[in-house]
Amino acid sequence: MAKHVLVTGGAGYIGSHACKALKAAGYVPVTFDSLVTGWEQAVKFGPFERGELADRARLDEVFAKWQPVAVMHFAALSQVGEAMKEPGKYWRGNVSASLTLIEAAVAAGCLDFVFSSTCATYGDHDGVMLDEDTPQTPLNSYGASKRAIEDMLKDFGAAHGLRSVIFRYFNVAGADPETEVGEFHQPETHLIPLMLDAIEGKRAALTVFGTDYPTPDGTCIRDYVHVMDLVDAHVLGLQWLEAGKGSRVFCLGTGRGFSVREVIDHSRAVTNREVPIVLGDRRAGDAVKLVSGSERAMAELGWQPARSTLAQMIGDAWKWHQSGHYDR
Ligand code: UDP
Repeated sequence: MAKHVLVTGGAGYIGSHACKALKAAGYVPVTFDSLVTGWEQAVKFGPFERGELADRARLDEVFAKWQPVAVMHFAALSQVGEAMKEPGKYWRGNVSASLTLIEAAVAAGCLDFVFSSTCATYGDHDGVMLDEDTPQTPLNSYGASKRAIEDMLKDFGAAHGLRSVIFRYFNVAGADPETEVGEFHQPETHLIPLMLDAIEGKRAALTVFGTDYPTPDGTCIRDYVHVMDLVDAHVLGLQWLEAGKGSRVFCLGTGRGFSVREVIDHSRAVTNREVPIVLGDRRAGDAVKLVSGSERAMAELGWQPARSTLAQMIGDAWKWHQSGHYDR
């Protein structure tokens, strides 16, 4: 019998890549997406159910129809800048909506849950290597909302037997090398796609947010993970739950950090084009350095972030960028 997996946010960047990986692993991904930030053209690997997470009746209907063996929960608001200005939107759109989803999953008896959390739950820790046991002290409502959902999953685990694999992602980049799906946000806020737009002349320049950080070149340092590696970890996480191994948190990073200037230098090398830049002020809510080891994911899940070199991530993103975007 086909194993359906309910993928919230399956029409978004990471969710659509996860659907591709799930299909390749023999599952049927059922995308549940409001299309507020997702793209229907990205739903290519299984059925589509349009809906809002806050709509419990709609969720109940979808759980009853597909009887999923698990939920992969990607749907979220994820812009730090917006979260700083409109925290209510994040508490409602992420925390309250996820509560409705978790309650619907428990009511439907769908007790395996893979959750997309973030390194933004950590806040600043003076540049130390972050791991699963590092205290979570988020700097913004985005990180705080994701931490709250992690707490909710633990409570529902204790009370209702919900089993969760929580992935704390570092900076996800790159695209499907076959260009079936890729990264496209409207508006775009992420470094690599904005940089590629600037290279192509679609925007005048990339603004570097802050050049006076306490790092070797003054710009922020992040740990970039290839989206294809990231979604591989999700399939391994699902199989971990199916094997009855229980709830677990995993960081997904490479252990190697790159500054904004280093990313720009790599892009120049990969695309053979100049990156027009403007030096700007710091962006509110940004941590100086976010880098993680992924020893646990490697040791316990057997995860290997083999494609997560900057050259490959930028190269695949560039290929996608040039192959065209989704349209409304
Ligand atoms: N960044 C930048 N200019 C931009 C967008 C991002 O300098 O136009 C920097 C940002 O300050 C951060 C890094 O690039 O240090 C990665 O930012 P992004 O928004 O891609 O991901 P985040 O780290 O916020 O999840």
